[in-house]
Amino acid sequence: MIEMQDVYKTYPNGVLAINGISVKINEGEFVYVVGPSGAGKSTFIKMMYREERPSNGSIMINGINLSSLKEKKVPLLRRHIGVVFQDFKLLPKLTVYENVAFALEVIEENPKYIKRRVMGVLDLVRLKHKARFKPDELSGGEQQRVSIARSIVNSPKIMIADEPTGNLDPDTAWEIMDIFEEINNRGTTILMATHNSEIVNKIKKRVIAIENGKIARDEMRGEYGYEI
Ligand code: ADP
Repeated sequence: MIEMQDVYKTYPNGVLAINGISVKINEGEFVYVVGPSGAGKSTFIKMMYREERPSNGSIMINGINLSSLKEKKVPLLRRHIGVVFQDFKLLPKLTVYENVAFALEVIEENPKYIKRRVMGVLDLVRLKHKARFKPDELSGGEQQRVSIARSIVNSPKIMIADEPTGNLDPDTAWEIMDIFEEINNRGTTILMATHNSEIVNKIKKRVIAIENGKIARDEMRGEYGYEI
């Protein structure tokens, strides 16, 4: 479970990005985070994986209190949370297989387990046949599928995606959504910041709308609700 209480975030330059947010997200939910550019969506989700720290208020992630979490325990938090970015952030010199295996190698998992697990998640994103390819030999959609495989290889309870379809054409975006739904159906909580109104309006999920650093709407099976 994710729980924020009275969270505020002011950046060092004085910008108040989050202006009093309290919210609960239960295990297994699928939540879209929507809102105009500059509303605070990225800041809201970055605080959950400790990329940014709140100026005030408390954040609990699966029982871990982020306010008192020591810097050296951050990698432990990251094992609970898989992160997917708009621009994929794959390591260009490594193969698909190596990009995905990396997170398990750093925690010194058993090599046999690593092989089985990596091929398992590559199968889930339908990329087993491209395990030996390098990122620049793949399409944008394929690269995003690798980054999704990488984000779930540790079996995190939560997946956070910041505009995951932002760089993809519409057909490819729908493929990514199929994979997200499958991951969510297996029990992973998904939080997805997006500007893709078609997806939000068609695949109905909880919608949290952020405007001026506050929650303006929070609806189960909500609509995107903004003109494009
Ligand atoms: P969104 O994701 O909805 O576009 P952001 O969370 O990125 O919104 O930004 C919210 C506000 O905080 C904006 O005014 C933005 O300019 C500001 N902001 C974001 N990141 C930083 C930063 N690292 N330093 C200073 N201001 C920032």
